[in-house]
Amino acid sequence: MLVFVGMLVIAGYIFFVDDENEINTKLITNINTEDIINIANTNTLNTSETDVNEVSNVNNELDETKEPPVEETVLIEPVNEFKERITKKPFGIYITPANSPVQPENFNGYHTGVDVEYEDVDDVVIVRAVTAGKVISAKWVSGYGGVLVLRHEINGEELLVLYGHLDPDLMITINAEVLAGQQIGVLGEGGTNETDGERKHLHLSFIKGTEVNLRGYVSSESELNAWYDPLDFY
Ligand SMILES: [Zn+2]
Repeated sequence: MLVFVGMLVIAGYIFFVDDENEINTKLITNINTEDIINIANTNTLNTSETDVNEVSNVNNELDETKEPPVEETVLIEPVNEFKERITKKPFGIYITPANSPVQPENFNGYHTGVDVEYEDVDDVVIVRAVTAGKVISAKWVSGYGGVLVLRHEINGEELLVLYGHLDPDLMITINAEVLAGQQIGVLGEGGTNETDGERKHLHLSFIKGTEVNLRGYVSSESELNAWYDPLDFY
């Protein structure tokens, strides 16, 4: 009896172990197959991601080669005490003959530049190029007297800078190439033909784009969008 029970136990164990091995083998077979597929897929994904990263890195490097980051242009003051002397007409101020801080006043509208005042200075006031550039207009214009327009590249952008109320006889000539800070003229004497009767001051305006626009005042605020406030650059 004992032998019989012992044989049954052994037979049951063998059956169980065999059965378990068979199940394990099946599981291992299944897992292996799935794993292989998963590993294959993972490898494919990894390879693709690496390729995409490599391609985008190459593109970034190419972009950097094509367009280097824009360096901010450090501008030179066009006249001594430039900012301190903008006391009457800043950029965008609305002027009428009645409200103007300058009397008598000939103008009307929104101011397209800044006026730098020198009525109290008898000495010659030198006007300098705010950065390197080229003279594209040099003439006498009604309302300004002598006026220069230079094309400059500022912060990677081409624009025009107008220097108004200069002595027309002492201005640099058209097409001249200038260096940053180079003397381009001197202020005209107030109340004379040099300034077309205006007081001694510099009218400085930054014109967007490369088309000369001599207007010192515009009739609507939206039209001011064609100019920058020069003080935005200082
Ligand atoms: Zn002005």
